[in-house]
Amino acid sequence: DAELGRAAGLVREVPDFPEPGVLFRDIGPVLADRDAFRVVVDALGRSHTFDVVVGIEARGFLLGAAVAHAYGTGFVGLRKPGKLPAVADRVDYALEYGTAALELPAESLIAGQRALVVDDVLATGGTLAASRKLVERAGAEAVGASLVLELSPLDGRQAVSDWNVRTLFTT
Ligand code: 5GP
Repeated sequence: DAELGRAAGLVREVPDFPEPGVLFRDIGPVLADRDAFRVVVDALGRSHTFDVVVGIEARGFLLGAAVAHAYGTGFVGLRKPGKLPAVADRVDYALEYGTAALELPAESLIAGQRALVVDDVLATGGTLAASRKLVERAGAEAVGASLVLELSPLDGRQAVSDWNVRTLFTT
């Protein structure tokens, strides 16, 4: 649709960030634009049935909280280590360079809840796979994931191939 296409055009490409040779995709301009923000948030929640949104730090918080509000659900944020006062669970995973971890806050997800994971960019898929693990270990149902942008050369879908992952734009 035309409005989504316009939103796609607002994603900014930043060469050599966060390190030389990496072409970083910045969705900041999409959030800053009233119409693009609304159309993207609506599209992220569409075609999934969920009772809670799980957003990944940090841009998954901005998008995911908006999706939760738009669709009338609660929101749970998965955080990088060291931020939470009380941790229910933690998953460590490999990145292209080094390792990372995500933590699930205590008293957040409820067993049986249908959770939609939201983030900005699908790169290698490691972050999504870790998120799914945290959701499922909490006894919730990981119904799928919605992201704004898929970096197809990195083939992140193979990390979550048996899952309902929707991306609005592909590059
Ligand atoms: P993955 O685990 O799929 O390799 O990396 C995805 C995570 O890294 C996401 O949380 C995403 O926000 C971040 N990420 C990786 N590459 C980019 C990028 O080019 N732009 C943005 N905004 N985030 C990225």
